[in-house]
This record gives sequence, structure tokens and C-alpha cells, in this order.
Amino acid sequence: MKRRQFLLASGAAVAVLAISTAFRHMGAVAEAEEEVFEVTKTDAEWRATLSEPQFAVLRQEDTERPGTSPLLDEKRKGTFHCAGCDLAVYPSETKYESGTGWPSFWDSLPDAIGTKQDNSLFMTRVECHCRRCGGHFGHIFDDGPQPTGKRHCLNGLALTFKPATA
Ligand SMILES: [Zn+2]
Repeated sequence: MKRRQFLLASGAAVAVLAISTAFRHMGAVAEAEEEVFEVTKTDAEWRATLSEPQFAVLRQEDTERPGTSPLLDEKRKGTFHCAGCDLAVYPSETKYESGTGWPSFWDSLPDAIGTKQDNSLFMTRVECHCRRCGGHFGHIFDDGPQPTGKRHCLNGLALTFKPATA
């Protein structure tokens, strides 16, 4: 290889390296803005542990038909858990009858949920999901009762209930 050719080739290699480093850096910045969850599974793995309707709600942000959840009538003391990863997410003390046909709460347990803006269906809503696995629960509205004034409107399919043992 002549010296001139070598210089051109190595110059091109440096340029390629610089560009790919720049792209990797951009990728890292984009990923940092995405929420990272402790529990991550492939769709196939989720399907193995969830029913088809549970998968549609938790992993595809489907909404169950109102009035269909057995948890609407759940009035015992206890804790509602994520149906995906079993994290305790809502206490029975904040559950109330909203009349919407979906299980409703005025607050979650501390450090249990994450939220993001949801612009689907021509609306801007606050979507809420499990802090640990990212499973979709429902949405949060500003027409709830005191002390928070919030209505966490959840899919019963996304939750399981564990009655208090005491
Ligand atoms: Zn979860």
C-alpha cells in the first residue's frame, strides 16, 4: 500500500469511528430518558404467566370493559398487587366507589407507581403503571375525592387482591 492510500484509508476509519461513537452517545441519551424497570420480560415470557386479557391490559395498554371486574365489589381490608410482578401497589384504605365501573383509588402506596403522559384517543391523560415491571394499570384524573383530589382509574385485570391476615 502506498503511503497516500494508507493515509486516506486510516482517515476514513477514524471518521467512521467518530460517527459511530456519536451515534452510540445519542442512543445512550435517548435511553436515559426512557424509564428503566427492575422486572423486564419478553412478550413470550409475559404471555406464559398472564391470561390473554391480562396481557392485553398490562403489556398493550388495553382497557377492560367497565363493570366487569370482580374487584369492584372487593371491600375487605388488604392490599392490591400488580398482576404482573406482584408488587404491592394500592391499599384498600384509598379505594372508593367512583361509579365509573373501574376500580378507583385516591392514592397509591409510596413508590409503587410510575406515570407518563398519554396522548392517545385525542386526549392528554396521565397514564399510570407499575413502578417495578412497567405493567399498565390505568389513568389518573383530577376529579377524585379528598385528601388528594385524584382518581386513579384502574383496570381490575391489572391487579390482584390480598386480604389482610390480621
Ligand atoms: Zn408490576
